[in-house]
Amino acid sequence: MIVKEINDIKRINLHLHTNVSDGSLSPKTLVNKAREIGLDLISITDHDTADAYAQIPENVSPLRILPGVEISSRYEDDDVHILAYGCDLTNKALQEMMEMYLVGRKERAKKMISILADMGIKISLEEVISVAGSRELIVRPHIAQVLVKHGFCQTKNEAFDKYIGNNKPAYVPKPEVSVAEAVSIIHKAEGVAVIAHPGKLTKLSYIDDFIPMGIDGLEVWHPDHYQWEIDNLINIAMKNGLYMTGGSDFHSEQDKHNLFDIIPLPEIVIQSIKELWKEYQCRALSR
Ligand SMILES: [Zn+2]
Ligand SMILES: [Zn+2]
Repeated sequence: MIVKEINDIKRINLHLHTNVSDGSLSPKTLVNKAREIGLDLISITDHDTADAYAQIPENVSPLRILPGVEISSRYEDDDVHILAYGCDLTNKALQEMMEMYLVGRKERAKKMISILADMGIKISLEEVISVAGSRELIVRPHIAQVLVKHGFCQTKNEAFDKYIGNNKPAYVPKPEVSVAEAVSIIHKAEGVAVIAHPGKLTKLSYIDDFIPMGIDGLEVWHPDHYQWEIDNLINIAMKNGLYMTGGSDFHSEQDKHNLFDIIPLPEIVIQSIKELWKEYQCRALSR
């Protein structure tokens, strides 16, 4: 049954953001769009929250949805994003980590707004919260949006370059969970831990450090990866028996990651994702 069903999975996108974190489409709109264009398998991977899953229709057939979350973590000087796929989203440890991020991000926004105020740039927390939406999960693009609205910057990019980008004057780091800790929580929740866009790591050799921590896969295909990086990541994954995944990191129809339907996943990656889907289904059935 599972195997027969797997054969018709071809069009896949396992990295999509909604307005529950810093994307622009609602989970429902995003799912409808995916169905319209005929995608076979997707994952919504918002930053540190799985709340999108409460907002999508129960029956999305023939589309299949692999539950996902993009977990923030830290290793040495690097922000490491980990795609947690197929987790039991009701798992207590996972929920506690997501709650910690929610509270921590709000505290962080307060600090950033207060530094900006000291610089003579006055915006209110209330306005940033209203941009962030009902869950009040505040990410830096929300602050950037308010800065642009009040004319302190022309664009969101300028807001990052001048004020809130990494190591800029009003930058405050996020609350931190180590890569090892995040992987362990994902495993407790019966999920699979995949390093997101490894091409963005400060050093590719960090992957060698993550393997003993128990990571299960690498996001081989990402719009920011060059072909040589994709080839390189496929080699590393094959050598170490890791899953290979891919997705467009879609945020909004306006930005450069506006890749929703046409994702040129190498055949070997599609095969690996099918294995991952099969494993998820087996685990989910036994829950
Ligand atoms: Zn990311
Ligand atoms: Zn992402």
